Amino acid sequence: MVSSSEQCTTRFAPSPTAQLHLGHLYAALFARDLAVKHGGRFLLRFEDIDITRVREHFYSACEKDLHDTEIQWLEPPLRQTTRFDAYATALKKLKSLKVVYPCFCTRKDIERELCNLTRAPHGPDGPLYPGTCKKLSKAEIETNLSAGKTPAWRFDANKAKKLTGELTFHDSFRGSIEVNHHLLGDLVLARKDIGTSYHIAVVVDDAFQNITDVTRGKDLLESTHLHRSLQALLEIPEPRYHHHDLVCDAHGERLAKRNDARSIRSLIEKGLTADELIDLCKSNVI
Ligand code: GLU
Repeated sequence: MVSSSEQCTTRFAPSPTAQLHLGHLYAALFARDLAVKHGGRFLLRFEDIDITRVREHFYSACEKDLHDTEIQWLEPPLRQTTRFDAYATALKKLKSLKVVYPCFCTRKDIERELCNLTRAPHGPDGPLYPGTCKKLSKAEIETNLSAGKTPAWRFDANKAKKLTGELTFHDSFRGSIEVNHHLLGDLVLARKDIGTSYHIAVVVDDAFQNITDVTRGKDLLESTHLHRSLQALLEIPEPRYHHHDLVCDAHGERLAKRNDARSIRSLIEKGLTADELIDLCKSNVI
């Protein structure tokens, strides 16, 4: 765990793929306020590795929303698209530890395999990867590679657990949590198209930016099991975690990115002030 003498550093890490909504505002305020409370630093990071969905105008739109709601950050924002080399280095280390394996499955292959199983393993978001490519021999891997197929790289939860042993992480709302290496199954850690994933990028960059306190919505609590395991494997520091509640709509549903009605910009255009926006997001947190 990061030492308590280290200066508290938090970050807000949106993806520039849509307008920010009230849920983002709550996340940004939570991170900013924690840093302020501890006399620390608050940073902005653009999680823009999903280059097919990123749109250039959303970077400046996000910065403008933060300015208009009086949220200030230190340093120029880090763009994850400038960090692909660092993610490749991390993947290389995971390969050398043999805790990832190449996967050539298409979505259709996985669906077919799941249909053939009488009992498919399930995680919080549905069926887990059934492990098809884990059984590939060296020769089969070679055949796929020489046919020009690019693999994704999947986490080998079993091997990772053997290497790291039991792990825990600390969440300020929930206390100490034991890591379940298998919770998300053998997840893709490096996509075929971009060679990385949210999971590698976030863990590597939290360490790179000396983030002592990771603040984010409770919908990402399950991912932290994987992140903690990656930190142990990559030998990078373990931050403190704060998985906060989420801003919901009138039906109690988490705000979706596509819910433009609640975009910060549309509410500012309707005439809401920064204080009113802040009150609105804080009063809809569940
Ligand atoms: N990019 C993520 C989001 O917008 C943030 C993930 C994180 O804070 O780790 O929800």
